[in-house]
Amino acid sequence: MKLRQKLLLSLLLAVFLPMILGGLGSLAVMQRQLQQINSTYHTHLSIGGVSGSMTDQFMKEVASDFEQEIRDTAEMCNWKLLDQTYCDELNARMGNKYSYLLVRNQGEITYPGDNEALAAAVKPYLPKYGSKTDHVWVPELGAYLWQYDFGAAGSVFAVIEVEQIEPKMRSCVIQTFCIFVILSVFSAIITTFVIYNSYYRPLLELEEACKRIADGDLNFTITSRKGDDLKELTDSFEVMRAKLKESMEKQVEDDKQNRELISNISHDLKTPITSIKGYVEGLMEGVANTPEKQDLYLHTIYSKANDLNRLIDELTYYSRISTNRIPYTFSKMDMVAYYEDCAVELEMDFEASEIEFHHDSLCKEAVIVVADPIQLRKVINNIIGNAIKYMDKAEQKVEMCLYREGDEVIIRIGDNGKGIAQKDLGHIFERFYRTDSARTSSKGGSGIGLAICKKIMDDHGGRIWAESREGEGTTFYFALKVFKEES
Ligand code: ADP
Repeated sequence: MKLRQKLLLSLLLAVFLPMILGGLGSLAVMQRQLQQINSTYHTHLSIGGVSGSMTDQFMKEVASDFEQEIRDTAEMCNWKLLDQTYCDELNARMGNKYSYLLVRNQGEITYPGDNEALAAAVKPYLPKYGSKTDHVWVPELGAYLWQYDFGAAGSVFAVIEVEQIEPKMRSCVIQTFCIFVILSVFSAIITTFVIYNSYYRPLLELEEACKRIADGDLNFTITSRKGDDLKELTDSFEVMRAKLKESMEKQVEDDKQNRELISNISHDLKTPITSIKGYVEGLMEGVANTPEKQDLYLHTIYSKANDLNRLIDELTYYSRISTNRIPYTFSKMDMVAYYEDCAVELEMDFEASEIEFHHDSLCKEAVIVVADPIQLRKVINNIIGNAIKYMDKAEQKVEMCLYREGDEVIIRIGDNGKGIAQKDLGHIFERFYRTDSARTSSKGGSGIGLAICKKIMDDHGGRIWAESREGEGTTFYFALKVFKEES
């Protein structure tokens, strides 16, 4: 359900639920009260039947039994109404319904009900013969009067004392009202609580979160609860916060790396420049005073300038590749054929050196990958270059192998050089990371060769890693996913 619909539904619920619950509660209480009145007064009042004045309705109900009896008696054997025994018996029954009987004949009270004094007090208020009163309220008596005439000048009266009933009726109305109010308030509190929990609280939390983000604080999490109607909004907000935090951390990390980069570049550029400057000064000041010395100085200057050039080339390459300014030319290619070509070229290169080079392919059939062959060659060259650079044994060996493992094709390049300490192994793919021994060696290096390899492999969706034992040698692996035709 959409948020708008949910909100509308909640508002309707907040308005109507208290009314419905209050109404139902009131009806239940009223029903119960009427049941009690019905059982006490032998009436048949029902909620549906109670319309207009409840007391009127009650009067009719309460008096209906004996009124009919009086009517029948007055018409068929009206002498009974002047009979003391009959009147006593009828009066006793009327007493059960908070009523009493008065009979007046020829202007005189012939039957005074239970109380003669009361009858005398009531007498002046009794309507005349022929008035045909039907439940007339007589405030002076605090009672309803019902009159039926008989004979020539006889009237029989039912006096219904509602004073006893009215408090009950009033309490019924008050109770009903109270229940209505209580249930309305109760359900209003519940719906308010539900709406608060579902909408208002998450909105408050989001507002608080916005303030914290505006203040630059992203170190918190905002979690949606079960049944939270703003769950989607809260979850999206949390995703946004996490991404913002990630990008801020990345930015901080990038800034830090850039500062390191500048300091590393300055350092690495300064080292050869300082030594070039030293040798040139040596030449100018005549320190190199023999042709042999001068020749040595010039060679050293040339070699340092070459280092500088190589370093600048690598830096330029790294900067271009890391800012995606070197476009890849990916194509489907057979890794086995590609590997064979590289191996043949490397074999020729190694022939001139003292290093033994072995290569092997365990893949007997073509293995298709999607890759940029030029960039892959850069990876192989960097690894082989390091193997040569960090070689320290008299018997020097480099071996290369191609094999397949699962859905990957892997090239392994191993050497028996000086190896890498375990503490350094996890860092060698970081840019400008060089082991202590590499820093102190005279072989030169920038610390970005392997970072370039890692970047190229990442951009290929592949991976690169190394294993090494200090003093025994290092093995590099890089793996590419084998291309699978979509079926
Ligand atoms: P560098 O220009 O210093 O060679 P790299 O990024 O290519 O930079 O290598 C990072 C570091 O990893 C090197 O400084 C070196 O300490 C270590 N390393 C790389 N390859 C080898 C290897 N084959 N044998 C021993 N150490 C190696």
